Amino acid sequence: MTVGNMESAQLFDAGKKGRGLRATKELSVGDVVFAEPSFSAVVFDSLSTQVCHSCFRRQANLHRCAQCKFAHYCDRTCQTACWDEHKQECGAIRKVGRAPSESVRLAARVLWRIHKDTGIASDSQLVSVDQLEDHVSDLSEEDLKQMKTNVQSFQEYWSYGRKKHSAEEISHIFGIIKCNGFTLSDQRGLQAVGVGLFPNLCLVNHDCWPNCTVILNNGKIELRAVEKIPEGQELTVSYVDFLNLSADRQKKLKENFFFECSCEHCSKHTKDDLMMALADSKPSADKVKEVTAFSKDSLEKIEGARVNMDYHEVVKLCRECVEKQKDVLADTHLYTLRVLSTASEVLSYQQQFSEAAVLARRMVEGYMKLFHPYNAQLGMAIMKAGVTHWHAGQIEEGHSLLCQAFGILMVTHGPNHAITQDLELMREQTEVELKMFRQSKDRYHSMREAALKSPAADEKVKGV
Ligand SMILES: [Zn+2]
Ligand SMILES: [Zn+2]
Ligand SMILES: [Zn+2]
Repeated sequence: MTVGNMESAQLFDAGKKGRGLRATKELSVGDVVFAEPSFSAVVFDSLSTQVCHSCFRRQANLHRCAQCKFAHYCDRTCQTACWDEHKQECGAIRKVGRAPSESVRLAARVLWRIHKDTGIASDSQLVSVDQLEDHVSDLSEEDLKQMKTNVQSFQEYWSYGRKKHSAEEISHIFGIIKCNGFTLSDQRGLQAVGVGLFPNLCLVNHDCWPNCTVILNNGKIELRAVEKIPEGQELTVSYVDFLNLSADRQKKLKENFFFECSCEHCSKHTKDDLMMALADSKPSADKVKEVTAFSKDSLEKIEGARVNMDYHEVVKLCRECVEKQKDVLADTHLYTLRVLSTASEVLSYQQQFSEAAVLARRMVEGYMKLFHPYNAQLGMAIMKAGVTHWHAGQIEEGHSLLCQAFGILMVTHGPNHAITQDLELMREQTEVELKMFRQSKDRYHSMREAALKSPAADEKVKGV
């Protein structure tokens, strides 16, 4: 089986970082360095009836496997495509009487596949799955306890003829999944739906300011260049959200991936100053202390209200916090950005587009000073801000933001991704409306009012 293509990348010794991948030729912004299907992947326990176990699309009315009654699929095609992977699992679930947790299911899928195809599933796969890092010796007491429970439930579940595995061998697989598992999102990139193992992707080391980004597109991951990469340069992706102070990113990386990040942005604390910046009005130290504490507290309350789906409370808390932060914290301060992000999203959801648009605009301007210009999160935020402005009747701003987002997503997601295609349609639609607006503002506004009254409008405004 030949899937993917590793002509543009090769394995090399990245010194302190261990193995790494480097470019074998010069790459341009937006190039797909390689695409790779998962070695194994599973849907999260909580979404097992809502997401197809073969293509990972979220859909209503999935068909369930008549035998185990656990796996769900879009249709026969998805079920057939996945049968080879599901066969062993189906038998094991029937034997035990219920499906075990997602990590146990994934570990079993990995081992079944190793037995069937060895640890190398295609010619382009650079290392065998069982040779990936497991970091078992670095795990905390608590993690080890969890792993022991997993190993036990694995042993009840697993069967493959008479083949048995020692607790050590199984722990090795769990360790590999823990530090190499890649979260899969649904087709619109809106929700995390599962986890999978992509062996070549596992070889790409981290940098907080990486030269590549990874995106899931039609069941495969794509590693896409976000910078011009000269031949021989190491390929990197970011394992953590850049919007954290360098010390916090380092802490997360240490806890989850067991290494000290010594990337240039961490060493020089690049942009930490912006992420803590104060308003131009030079507030007093006491005031800053007060507002910072207030923001921290509010953000916790906002999160709580959000979990409880109390959106009126979320909006109330956000408005209070935005007011407090005014003239004290700058718009690139992480606390400001977090409040702006939640506020604009929830207000948009409540169709309070004008207020949402003002906040989204501020957020996007802050993001642009912090993020890499081709960052997927930035592109998505600009797209949402564009939609919000469009729905608020600010067609010029809306169209311009959508165009800007399109430029980013063409690089980070590529032209064939479902999100880019949605965005392209919105960009075309807003272009038509913008033309109308420029010809006659009155005609534009009456068209808009009529559209908002039509039954389809409600669906449209909740579209993104
Ligand atoms: Zn499917
Ligand atoms: Zn089944
Ligand atoms: Zn770093």
